[in-house]
Amino acid sequence: MRSYIRVALLVCLFFGLNQAFAQKYPQDYFRYPMDSLPNFVSPFGVMRDNHFHSGIDLRTNGKIGLPVYAAADGYISRIKVARGAYGKALYIEHANGYSTVYAHLDAYYGAIAEWIHDYQYINQTFEFDKIFIKPFLRVKKGDTIGLSGNSGTSSGPHLHFEIRDSRTEKILNPALFGILPIDHFAPEINKIFVYKFVREGLLLKKQITFNTKNAYWQDIYLVSKDTLLLDADTYGFGIDAHDYIHNSKDPKGLYTYTFWLNQTHKFTHALNQFAFDETKYINAHIDFPYYKLEKLRVQKCFVDDGNKFSNYQTDAHKGRVHFTQPNTHGELIFEAADVNQNKTYVKIFYTIGPSQIDAEKLAYETQMQNKACLFPGKAMLVTQDGFMASMDEKSIYDTVCYTLNTYPKKLDAISNTYSFHTYTTPVHAPFNVSIKLPLPVDGLEDKLLIGYAKNMGDGFVSIGGNYAMGLVQAKASNFGFFKIMLDTVAPKVKRVLPKYMGNSHDTLRWDFDISDDCAGIKSYDMYLNGRWILGDFDAKNDRLTYLFDEVYYIERERIFNLENNPSSAKAFRVLVRVVDNKNNKTERWFDINP
Ligand SMILES: [Zn+2]
Repeated sequence: MRSYIRVALLVCLFFGLNQAFAQKYPQDYFRYPMDSLPNFVSPFGVMRDNHFHSGIDLRTNGKIGLPVYAAADGYISRIKVARGAYGKALYIEHANGYSTVYAHLDAYYGAIAEWIHDYQYINQTFEFDKIFIKPFLRVKKGDTIGLSGNSGTSSGPHLHFEIRDSRTEKILNPALFGILPIDHFAPEINKIFVYKFVREGLLLKKQITFNTKNAYWQDIYLVSKDTLLLDADTYGFGIDAHDYIHNSKDPKGLYTYTFWLNQTHKFTHALNQFAFDETKYINAHIDFPYYKLEKLRVQKCFVDDGNKFSNYQTDAHKGRVHFTQPNTHGELIFEAADVNQNKTYVKIFYTIGPSQIDAEKLAYETQMQNKACLFPGKAMLVTQDGFMASMDEKSIYDTVCYTLNTYPKKLDAISNTYSFHTYTTPVHAPFNVSIKLPLPVDGLEDKLLIGYAKNMGDGFVSIGGNYAMGLVQAKASNFGFFKIMLDTVAPKVKRVLPKYMGNSHDTLRWDFDISDDCAGIKSYDMYLNGRWILGDFDAKNDRLTYLFDEVYYIERERIFNLENNPSSAKAFRVLVRVVDNKNNKTERWFDINP
């Protein structure tokens, strides 16, 4: 009876919250930006590498080129074209203080498309980021603004859609505005993880304590048959749960999850909104080492000291539990909810055992005592044998007791290799890495950079870097292995012949593969008979494409009309120039018949 009343109270609290949202956020203002019914590939806030999904991904059934509509009246406030990230993106500012974002487009539409094409030719650039302060290109709710695509860092055709608060730039859950997936399934809680704190910031073993196969139903609860045995010590908990939505086979994330200890609220995480500069807290939100090793994202029910993500409601202990009385018992309750208010509850009974010494904890503590440590909120300098790391105060989320090792320089290498702690510990703000150049490189200083690898045996990739005063310096976003590398190799350029795919449009283009082996591509340009032409660069496919536009047709007219034109001159001369981040340049000419 007691638990029934408590749940009833909780339900009231939740519906109360929803009513507050309904009042705060207009419910019919934004329309669905595509023709289909709400058909989500990814809901808001899905956990991804280094970020929470900032919008909703809408299904286009594998197709490119479906019309995308303005969600409400407004004006174009920003146009961003990038080789990666959102690819071709459009931002609309609305009169009610919100803006909407449409990303991974294949193309823009109408007057917007014309403006962009002109802008790219005037500025001789494919990529740009233009913000409009004053209304210029206006749109009406339902106007076609672009065609859906797969541009930028997208792993398949879809539309990425966002609603933002224009004043704060915070991204809001479209569900607050009534844009919801179809979802009749309650979330599934797979496992509950138990963590023991050795001391502030240091976690010991994990114990997995819940398995649905070993549970029974009691009222609304799925109750674990096993009682959890704990010590009089400090613990934290983690939840492995997911949700299924209509018309989608793969599991999605949760909207909220909550943890109670003996009917006292300890922790809630709710994904209503977040700012871009806090999305990387995902790495503190989850059990990061476990994710790196096991590829499973366990969401913690406690908050690390360096985790400043604003979406938590916790008690004074930030969700950690201090059990002090031996030989007592109680219950833990976990709730997982999706945005459609489908919920699942798990209950676990626990017993605090008699006081005893935990040998594993002691051994771990001793092991840590022999190591130097970094602390969240504290800038620190770490140096050894020509290696220097300058930690920002926001670089780490929790105490990090690290190792720093030097591996001697190999014959073909520029410097020693250094290992600084391990890639399974998350880094928030990047830190500066400097490595001393052991030998002069005779005029090749501007080709030096720092290479990074997770493990010694992996291929090292450039994290950039510059040479100054005997040191090569770069920003590192991960712990791991570092060494100085030299990039004198220019990018590669290769023509890819068109494949007729049953659409004449497929042949109205020239494709080139452009790639760089180390420093990465800085710039790329194409010229047709000396005139700059617009190359659309898709970084994920290393593909540079020229879609025939007016320049092509004007040039074609011109060379066909040349008097006494020998047939050999009736070809386009196309120059492709690609420069990498260490200024190694490739220029290749192609003679292409019209
Ligand atoms: Zn997306």
